Amino acid sequence: MKPERTPMSRRPKPPPKPKTAERIIERDPVEVYCRIRPPENLNQEECVTAVDSRTVKLTPPLSSFAFRNGHAKEHQYKFRHVFNSDSSQKDVFDYVAKPLVSDVLRGKNGLLFAYGVTGSGKTHTMQGSPQDGGIVPRTLDVVFNSINEYQTKRRIFKPDGMNGFDAQCESDAFNERRRIDATPLNPRTPKTPRYRRDTSGSQDSSQRIPDTSRIECIDEDNVFSIFVAYIEIYNNYIYDLLEDLSDAGPSGRLQTKILREDAQHNMYVHGCTEVEVKNPDDALEVLYKGQRRRKIAYTRLNCESSRSHSIFTIRVVQAPLDAQGEEVVTDKSSIMVSQLSLVDLAGSERNNRTKAVGDRIKEAGNINNSLMTLRTCIEVLRENQMMGSSKKVPYRDSKVTHYFKNYFDGEGKVKMVVCVNPKADDYDETLPVMKFAELASEVQVQRSVQPARQDPGLLPGRRRANQLFKEVRRRLEEEGENVKNLEVDLTPIYTLAPAWPAVSYTAETRDDVIMKLKAYLQKRIHNREKLQTELKGKILTMHTNVVEMEKENLIMKKEIMSLRSLYDDAMTKVRTLESMLLNAESVNESLQRKFTDYNNLVDECNAVREERDLAKSHGHLEKQRMKARLKSKLEIEKEKLKNDMQTKLCEQKSKMYHSQVRALQEIFLDDNQTPKNIRVPSTSDSDLHQSRQGPHSSIKGSTSDPKLNISQAFLTPDLRGPAVSNQRHRRSRSQGADMWLDHRPGQEVPLGTVLQPNLPRRKSVTRLRSGDLLDGRVTNYCLTTQQQDSEGELETKLYKNMNWQVLEWGQHVLLCWLLFCDLATYYLRPAEVPRWCSRMWRSSSSEIPWLSLCLSVPQMVPLK
Ligand code: ADP
Ligand code: MG
Repeated sequence: MKPERTPMSRRPKPPPKPKTAERIIERDPVEVYCRIRPPENLNQEECVTAVDSRTVKLTPPLSSFAFRNGHAKEHQYKFRHVFNSDSSQKDVFDYVAKPLVSDVLRGKNGLLFAYGVTGSGKTHTMQGSPQDGGIVPRTLDVVFNSINEYQTKRRIFKPDGMNGFDAQCESDAFNERRRIDATPLNPRTPKTPRYRRDTSGSQDSSQRIPDTSRIECIDEDNVFSIFVAYIEIYNNYIYDLLEDLSDAGPSGRLQTKILREDAQHNMYVHGCTEVEVKNPDDALEVLYKGQRRRKIAYTRLNCESSRSHSIFTIRVVQAPLDAQGEEVVTDKSSIMVSQLSLVDLAGSERNNRTKAVGDRIKEAGNINNSLMTLRTCIEVLRENQMMGSSKKVPYRDSKVTHYFKNYFDGEGKVKMVVCVNPKADDYDETLPVMKFAELASEVQVQRSVQPARQDPGLLPGRRRANQLFKEVRRRLEEEGENVKNLEVDLTPIYTLAPAWPAVSYTAETRDDVIMKLKAYLQKRIHNREKLQTELKGKILTMHTNVVEMEKENLIMKKEIMSLRSLYDDAMTKVRTLESMLLNAESVNESLQRKFTDYNNLVDECNAVREERDLAKSHGHLEKQRMKARLKSKLEIEKEKLKNDMQTKLCEQKSKMYHSQVRALQEIFLDDNQTPKNIRVPSTSDSDLHQSRQGPHSSIKGSTSDPKLNISQAFLTPDLRGPAVSNQRHRRSRSQGADMWLDHRPGQEVPLGTVLQPNLPRRKSVTRLRSGDLLDGRVTNYCLTTQQQDSEGELETKLYKNMNWQVLEWGQHVLLCWLLFCDLATYYLRPAEVPRWCSRMWRSSSSEIPWLSLCLSVPQMVPLK
């Protein structure tokens, strides 16, 4: 709540705050006073007594909850001052509130709380009765007593709606006054009271005994205006008790208001009515109207006003007179606003005491919450100050604390009157009140400084000089002088005292006049002395300030010197470091180059090594493959030799058998008899016989005539042999010029090796046709296959045969050959021979490896 409420943009930038170490923050404690109300009746048992002017003793009565729980100890609490039951309202006002009034008239803010349980005298202390007014009416009296002759006319100042005020010249204000006076009066709106005062419902102000005291030393070159606002916080909602009810609709209910922060971060109630008042009665009229509204609202709600917090705010708006002391300076930056908030808090008792139910519990809860938040804020503030911590003060938790947050942050003085009802029944409720009071008195609030206003450079005494000038003018006019262009230099006019008293006297009045003159001169002398003392004081202060400034100046100079030398040292270091950095960078660059060169060299070496390794491993692989191939060839050779040997053996046996049979036939034919001792052929013989039967043996079947069978078997053995062989296509390897039929895969992968098949004369085909085989020039056949081996490598196999023939079966012609390569890979048992060739080979007892090869060769398709 800074006194000056000028928009940020127009406000000169504040000078930077000195560092904490140099800045001495002046703090004042929250001033907590205690007021003990008189007993309600003479026989009342009491639990609170004032020990001295600062101490209160609390004795737990037998009926108290604390006593019953074994807390029978007496407690003493310290206050700034204790007002006992016979302290008057004036005592309380003079001691507690008057300094705040003085502050507010000098532009400082103030906050005064009345705290305590219901019935302890809070409202009595704040408002009192017409005959014996409390703090509020007395404050108003003293404010108006002090500024009465310096007040502006209405509407010179007007609220700007953003917690600030605007000023306008007298002519504009006059027009506005006329316009307002012309509008019909709305009885529901407590606008600025006019001369036609609405007295309905006001308290009996005729009986009112006003406070006649005043605050001296008011800046008489300023003009003042007083505005009052009256709000209520009920159930944590804010209501404006002076609101214009014509906007409230037919219900006539007050609207809830919201809190806002102005440009200077001061909290204010947005849209709150502020009524300009020109005397205490006007102000009290407004207060009583607000109270009547409260009462109506509470009657409607069937509850009592002690359940809400009421805040009556007096705002003092002042601005300097211009150089002629005639009109107000309307510049917004010259306007100073200060406020004094007088708060009558709700009763602090708990629910159970009030027997609250339903809505009342919620209401009591909200009261307790807001008081609890106030308590918490005070606790946190105290903890922060005592422990040096910086905990967040929960001002925002309730409207009351949020509204007054600025006060606790050092924007004004905070005082609290703790009201106590000494009756024993209240002990349990009074105890926490006392504890809270003790806690609050330990909190320190930053002292609000006199607002630094822009000095308009105007001389003091302008008002008085203007009055003198007007008086002179008037007198000159009376004497018939032309005063139209009269100009007076007001500078040398001093204001040591009011106007001179009359000096004409008669014999009777001589003494009286002399006395008056004496008093007047004495006053002048007194004033002069006072001014001289003030001047001396100011000179002294100024001198002290100058000396301090000199001292500070010297210290600063020294600091600057030392900082300069430090700066020079640092700069030298920086330069050295920079040159070192440059050197290091160039070294780094050359090292980088070398490093790149070495890396390239390493890469080359690695590439060479890898090539070598590759060649080595490739050679090794080739060797392995060669070895495997040679081994397989060796195996095939072995097998072939074995087969040849077996064939030869069979042929030999067959020859022997034939010769024996022929010998027997000859014997038979010679003897012309049925043979009797025919040797049954041995198993090996029958095997041989069987092996020579061929595939047609099963078709032909057997006959029951053994003779015929034997003759068939022995006389036509070649016809039943390999019946499908076509002797026309047999090629002899002995023919000198060999011609190779080179049968290769369709998409051959190059071998990439020097080991290539040696086929001097060849005819290469990818698809085998009968014409190729039946070509008379072809003597040899070579088949090339390619596939992946188990290690994922490409495996190329060459099947060369020197002994092949074409077999015919029905429409199909099959190519068969004997191999020199490893047959194990393509080995099949007769049972696995596909059906289409089963007839051909079923009779064969031995395994037929070359057949399986026929089937596995991909290019081997039926010949067309
Ligand atoms: P509160 O506002 O705390 O609930 P009130 O101010 O309404 O209490 O006081 C309750 C009653 O006690 C009123 O009738 C009031 O006149 C009376 N009272 C309180 N304090 C005093 C006092 N100091 N002197 C005389 N009467 C008092
Ligand atoms: Mg009350």
